[in-house]
Amino acid sequence: MTLRNLTILGATGTIGVNTLDVVARHPDRFRVIALSGQNQVAKLAQQCRQFQPRYAVVLDAGKAKELDSLLAGTGTEVLVGMEALEWVSALPEVDSVMAAIVGAAGLRPALAAARAGKRVLLANKETLVMAGRFFMQAVQEHRATLLPIDSEHNAVFQSMPAGYDGNLAGHGVRRILLTASGGPFRTRAVETLKDVTPEQAVAHPNWVMGKKISVDSATMMNKGLEVIEARWLFNARPEQIEVVIHPQSIVHSMVEYLDGSVLAQLSNPDMRTPIAHSLAYPDRIEAGVNWLDLAKIGGLTFEAPDFARFPCLKLAYHALEAGGAAPAILNAANEEAVAAFLDHRLPYLGIAATLETVLEGLSDLAAESLDDLMEADAAARRAARALIPAS
Ligand code: NAD
Ligand code: MG
Repeated sequence: MTLRNLTILGATGTIGVNTLDVVARHPDRFRVIALSGQNQVAKLAQQCRQFQPRYAVVLDAGKAKELDSLLAGTGTEVLVGMEALEWVSALPEVDSVMAAIVGAAGLRPALAAARAGKRVLLANKETLVMAGRFFMQAVQEHRATLLPIDSEHNAVFQSMPAGYDGNLAGHGVRRILLTASGGPFRTRAVETLKDVTPEQAVAHPNWVMGKKISVDSATMMNKGLEVIEARWLFNARPEQIEVVIHPQSIVHSMVEYLDGSVLAQLSNPDMRTPIAHSLAYPDRIEAGVNWLDLAKIGGLTFEAPDFARFPCLKLAYHALEAGGAAPAILNAANEEAVAAFLDHRLPYLGIAATLETVLEGLSDLAAESLDDLMEADAAARRAARALIPAS
């Protein structure tokens, strides 16, 4: 058994907390070297007391001061800022980095981990949506190991042949079937979608998640981002990735082979399964997850997605087909629109409308370098904010 030294970025979030839950079950396997958080200083301090990392990273000096006093007398050193996030992701003594910051802010530290050749446990799908080409290049050039945490991509990874090298045809793969729960509004009368409140949108039927990804699940932008994520992770063309609605969230995704076989990964909807899979890979460890009781679940159903109900899903396919900076633009505009919706400044249907207008208006931005993509991200945020009332 290998002892693994971990950096957990976004430790105070849903994925971070679930990761620490799995880690706590296997003190002989995992040691925490660094934890990061943004606003929840007391929670981060408590995690530091329990897991005794060498470093704790926050983003601003005020939070660092608070954390410092909470951690007085412990061995944990407090570091500040994006450079520190990158530094703890590339430390020689760290072998695995859980990239679980939400949004575009997660890109730079995830990239630092890839460039340092780490095992990158990637929850932050926005990294691949924004900069998939450059991130995958860094993984290959620096011989990093990329393990998907997103439950769908983890399921696809598990259903692919061992040692999958990015050649779908060579492995006899026909299609990737990404399952989607359909979120809280799968059957709600379409004409009432205009009245959806943030509280309704974040109440996901099957999963407990951060607010941003919960809203993305309600609009199905989450599935759109995941289609783009799958394109880069598995080197698939858009038409090789199909979305299937599966309201029970038991089949987490599937791989279809040329001989007609479809391989799937099933489990209860609990992120500790993909997290434990990636933490221990290629070993298997207990994750604290309830055993799957199929007789109790009774039925597994599947249906085609309704693009009229979920225009964000269509927009994501369009952005993927347009290529270049379009996915980064879509992602950035979405972050702005979702934040405004959660803040009651934008109605639910305004999310898709904002994305469509921003994508149309910024169709010719360059995407030759990471800097280009950062600029596209900034331009999309400005364009989105210009469309959204300030209060
Ligand atoms: P969350 O909101 O619960 O947690 C986000 C974490 O990132 C927190 O620790 C927060 O402190 C930190 N953070 C937020 N903004 C930051 C910034 N600007 N700079 C540095 N740190 C920042 O989110 P989550 O649900 O844990 O999701 C994390 C990532 O994992 C997202 O990219 C999400 O799409 C992905 N993901 C989550 C789930 C899930 O079930 N929650 C499933 C699949 C993928
Ligand atoms: Mg997912």
